[in-house]
Amino acid sequence: MLKINYLDKFDKNRYFKTISDKYFHIAKHELLQEVFCRVGVSHQIEQNGGILPPYEKTTITIQELFDYLKSHKIADFDTLFDGITLEDIIIGDIDTLQKIKNTIGLKKENKYIDFLFNYTNLQSKKIKPFFENNLHIATCYYCNIDYINTYNTRSGKKNKFTLDHYYDKGSYSYLALSLYNLIPSCYACNSKLKGVEEFTNLAPSSYKFNFNKKVKFKLLLSDNCKNLHIKSKDDIEIPLKENYSNEYEKYIEVFKLNERYQAHKDIVFEMMQNAELYPESRLRELQELTGIPYQQIKKDIFNLIDDDVDLSKKPFSKLIKDISEELKLI
Ligand SMILES: [Zn+2]
Repeated sequence: MLKINYLDKFDKNRYFKTISDKYFHIAKHELLQEVFCRVGVSHQIEQNGGILPPYEKTTITIQELFDYLKSHKIADFDTLFDGITLEDIIIGDIDTLQKIKNTIGLKKENKYIDFLFNYTNLQSKKIKPFFENNLHIATCYYCNIDYINTYNTRSGKKNKFTLDHYYDKGSYSYLALSLYNLIPSCYACNSKLKGVEEFTNLAPSSYKFNFNKKVKFKLLLSDNCKNLHIKSKDDIEIPLKENYSNEYEKYIEVFKLNERYQAHKDIVFEMMQNAELYPESRLRELQELTGIPYQQIKKDIFNLIDDDVDLSKKPFSKLIKDISEELKLI
């Protein structure tokens, strides 16, 4: 629903370093032993000035292992990742990731890929802290309903967000660590609703994501309401409508946005009651009485949101903004 506004300090190169600093302990992993054994004789030669003389080291980084698997043509790494760098995979933008995904396709059974891009190992120690420290996460980017902020405790930072893999990590495990494939979201959106659903070009991490501009909450009144005079929230509907296309139809459906916002019609009902209580003439009177500028009074009464505000900072900001437009308050 809302595009992620990445801050300057959200430095993708630092993320890459954070990820590629991870070391696998060679001696501890059967799979790594297997990798190096498969090379056989040629491995002996490489020990003297080769790409990686494994048995002289006790650890290996993701980058080294990726290069090693590629150069030794293990598990088709040379063809699968032909022309694709680790950097493309880890910090490529969403367009790059989509291209990689289309090139490589489903890879459910490659244990080397699963091992190399294992999300579980890095999630709590490296990936989530990177998001906690470098992005001011407030509400879910998919729904703008729930707070998913980070907070401080005596034992350090905690958070209420989950990281959804925009491209499912079960199907495309090589994208499990990709920075722009990770969308901070609430539990309901990530686990209960989205699951393995796939969209095309609709990632909140993309500069092209324009849900907020294209899709608006509309205000519909039941037939028995005249001149915006409504008696209860049951008299109104607030469906999301997309202008001129239906790119976001599936997105709205998957996240059950229309159904979920039904439960929050009271916010709109309150705005409408205020609109009735405070017509422009009343606001002008208040300006005369208090000396407070008319625009300020209006803003305070209706909780109006400025144009330059990042709507993800508070729950329901998009709803309030769109309905303010519908009520011609802004
Ligand atoms: Zn959500």
